[in-house]
Amino acid sequence: MNEQEKFQPQIESIETSKIPSKDKIPSKEEYLKQALENLQITSRTARGVVDVSASKDKNREMQDINEQEAANRATANFKEVIEQLYKQRNRQFENPEELQTFVEDIARHINKAITKEGILIRTHDSDKYPYTKVKDLPKEMRQFYEEFFVRLQNPTEDPEKLAGWVEYRINLTDHFFADGCSKTAKAISSWILMRYGHRLPQYRSREELYQHAPTQIRGTNPEVNQKEFELWMKYYKSLFKSPESEKTLEYTNGEEMLLALSPVFKRRYTHDGDLMLGCRYGCEFCYYRWISASKDYIGTGKLKRLATPEQMVEFLKNSKLFLPKDILILGARGDASMYPQEVIQFLSLLEKDPYFKENIILALHRGPASETMKKALLKYPNFRFGTTITPKAYELKWTKIKEEAQIAGLKRLLEAGIDPDRISIEIGPLNSENIDEGIKTLKQLEKMGFKNVMVRGVAFGTFGVDRDKELKKMVDLGFIDPSILESPEKHEYYVVKNFLTPDAYRKLQEIVPKMKIHRHTYTYYREVWGVPIALNRDNKVRISELTIHSEDKVRETVEKYGLKPEKVSKRDDHYFIELPSGQVATEDIAMTIGAELESAVIFNNYRRTASLEDVKFYQKHSLFYLDPYLKNK
Ligand code: SF4
Repeated sequence: MNEQEKFQPQIESIETSKIPSKDKIPSKEEYLKQALENLQITSRTARGVVDVSASKDKNREMQDINEQEAANRATANFKEVIEQLYKQRNRQFENPEELQTFVEDIARHINKAITKEGILIRTHDSDKYPYTKVKDLPKEMRQFYEEFFVRLQNPTEDPEKLAGWVEYRINLTDHFFADGCSKTAKAISSWILMRYGHRLPQYRSREELYQHAPTQIRGTNPEVNQKEFELWMKYYKSLFKSPESEKTLEYTNGEEMLLALSPVFKRRYTHDGDLMLGCRYGCEFCYYRWISASKDYIGTGKLKRLATPEQMVEFLKNSKLFLPKDILILGARGDASMYPQEVIQFLSLLEKDPYFKENIILALHRGPASETMKKALLKYPNFRFGTTITPKAYELKWTKIKEEAQIAGLKRLLEAGIDPDRISIEIGPLNSENIDEGIKTLKQLEKMGFKNVMVRGVAFGTFGVDRDKELKKMVDLGFIDPSILESPEKHEYYVVKNFLTPDAYRKLQEIVPKMKIHRHTYTYYREVWGVPIALNRDNKVRISELTIHSEDKVRETVEKYGLKPEKVSKRDDHYFIELPSGQVATEDIAMTIGAELESAVIFNNYRRTASLEDVKFYQKHSLFYLDPYLKNK
């Protein structure tokens, strides 16, 4: 295939829009995923903030639990409720009272172990929000359930209008319950939409939602009330539109499709994962600016949710490629500083689950290490902080992050007693423009007590964007010397990957003799963190060591991943695996098998970048748990 052909979109494609069109009924998993996303975006409790400011008595109504516990309970309760509502989506009611009991049972479940026993209906007026006065609540509730009951029976009712009205009444205006109104309103409106086989709204932000909330108590000024309700409904209906980019996106290959939609998009020495795609920093040299699936989310202010912490747990537990000692990166196609509370929430979920006892979570931050990250490192032994410092980048206006702030953040972590080997630092990209500053930074880190650091050369790639234009930009920025483009190493989507000559590495190492400079991440992960790694890479032996397993053991391991080897041969420093024609081991699979066996495995049929067909194979054999993220199962 010539270079140009490599970047043509493949003709075959899997239909992948995350939210199905109106004529397709979402599956239970799709409903659950969207409902949990909405919860994460709109609920402060679910994000670890317990808000008791609505009234002075609210504090007394809450259980004595910390915010993290409240967040975990809120998410778990909400998930159970949505599952229950999905089962009961066709339920009919005899009268408004029965419907009221149903809604109130849901509210109780939402608040289980969060509010005190026996607390349900709001008994205090709010000084802060324009909620219906408590004295009027019984009348308004009666009216609400009567109207709701009638509208539920109406075959011509518009589901979006009914769901929007329910949210407006239960949460924004009447605010029926002492706590959990927003969650109950979202659960009941989701139930309405599930009854109709209609997709759920996609909330964009909590702030935007409350910008469309009423400002006056309902019933006090009918004209204003009507306008405010219309404004809310217009906003609510806008939540059902798919973002343009998702409607039109075509994927160059399977890896790009996973990059756009899946919580983890590739497995090399680590699993590259994210809860959100995107980054508001928008560094000039950011690789994800040059990929169609991510370019709208780098430096634009927009972020795209890929998974909630809970969904990530579910994804990993159901993905065969995720092994008991594997590393998961957060912030692989963005920056984990975009969602610090969710990183904590995720770590807390893992801590309670013995399934993850040996896994390492590495959160990548270009943003300086925060207090939150410091606390997380102190609390969770399997957590690691990772950062990349690009020398001189702020001065040259390539990034908004100051190097001094990054170094100051690292100092704070060390002062708190955190082992420097739990902080992974990459210096780069380096080239002739910033090598002097790079040397200064390396010396500084050595002085601070770091024993290991990674140094990266230039990486530059493209997926379906104007390659020549972007290449020129990188050359103009000084990140690429045009002569290195003659390199014989061709990559499907990198023009240049981590390029610095061996001689340059040798010279840098001589400058900081007390600190080991790692050229590749694998030596760092293996030597510093003791993680089992594959000894193969790109279908070649990368680390030559004697083979130790029987051929049968290797065959058995390969078969676990859905492949059926015709022959396995033991060689001195690798196993050679022959697959039947039509079967291919991708780099994701080869590196998982290599890591599991801690050996090198080489295949007769191999593909470095997963194709769209490979993604179907991953889904079918649960290599990655993609059911909630891709359609056409
Ligand atoms: S901080 Fe990282 S993810 Fe964010 S724009 Fe910069 S390079 Fe890209």
